[in-house]
Amino acid sequence: MPYKNKAKAKECKRRFQLGNSQRCKDAHSRWVDRNPHLVWARSTLKSHAYRGNAVVITVKELVKLANETTECEFCGTPLKFIYGIGHRQDGPTLDRLQNSKTLTKENIAIICKRCNTSKGDRTMDEFINYCRKIYERFGN
Ligand SMILES: [Zn+2]
Repeated sequence: MPYKNKAKAKECKRRFQLGNSQRCKDAHSRWVDRNPHLVWARSTLKSHAYRGNAVVITVKELVKLANETTECEFCGTPLKFIYGIGHRQDGPTLDRLQNSKTLTKENIAIICKRCNTSKGDRTMDEFINYCRKIYERFGN
């Protein structure tokens, strides 16, 4: 039976959490393990918004894209959505393809951290030209 008084419900929840902190931490860890795409999507959109980007895509839309993305869209490295893996070189990151300050479904790609670091603030054309130059100097 839900509380009619929201403040009272909040206070009750707070008291429960104070008396059951380990139990709540464990439950949260289990939830994180069961929802890796959601955890990643929330965190990446929050950090893009924090850095001044207009986030038009919803968490739900990004979760769907993350579920469909099993490898880096640039280099094909398999991507693992595991909490805490975001800082690894093969961890998933969200790239703004044309460096637009607005994140929409159309201008993003999920790529590995290594590719995202290499691309930096280049547009796709600039990045492809950069790769081409390296290939021309060192390829074959
Ligand atoms: Zn990659």
